[in-house]
Amino acid sequence: MTEQARIGRFREFFKGFLLLELLKGMLLTGRHLFRRSITIQFPEEKTPISPRFRGLHALRRYPNGEERCIGCKLCEAVCPALAITIETAERDDGTRRTTRYDIDLTKCIFCGFCEESCPVDSIVETGMFEYHGEKRGDLYYTKEMLLAVGDRYEEKIASDRARDSAYR
Ligand code: SF4
Ligand code: SF4
Repeated sequence: MTEQARIGRFREFFKGFLLLELLKGMLLTGRHLFRRSITIQFPEEKTPISPRFRGLHALRRYPNGEERCIGCKLCEAVCPALAITIETAERDDGTRRTTRYDIDLTKCIFCGFCEESCPVDSIVETGMFEYHGEKRGDLYYTKEMLLAVGDRYEEKIASDRARDSAYR
């Protein structure tokens, strides 16, 4: 054993013997003990969320109740996780609308590409993150479910978009 290695082992022995690592840990704890707490009591308390937060998806309507989605399938094409399934049909007035719009949230990676690709601001990701499923099928969102999310959070969705409009 070299001289240097012997000194190293000797130093380690004394550090362990004097519990220096433990004292350093306690010192750190003591330093933070009387500082202002940075933890919050979720869900009663919440931290602010960016208007760009990518949470639960929603399909939006225009103020007259008409669905925004025109069934162009850009979101389906751009989705890297192949999580979106769309079927469309022409209506009596000649416009095209979806007859099926499903998102499998177990596949979704919340990249936001669908939202970015939509020409009519129809599919969006909301600031909503407090949802769960107890079985796989619970996270398979159909068109009706997505429209219901949009109807429920439209005010917040619109205000988030307005806040972020300068950067879009
Ligand atoms: S957020 Fe990304 S992965 Fe999820 S549905 Fe949209 S495009 Fe697909
Ligand atoms: S949500 Fe937007 S991008 Fe997707 S099909 Fe409808 S209009 Fe096209």
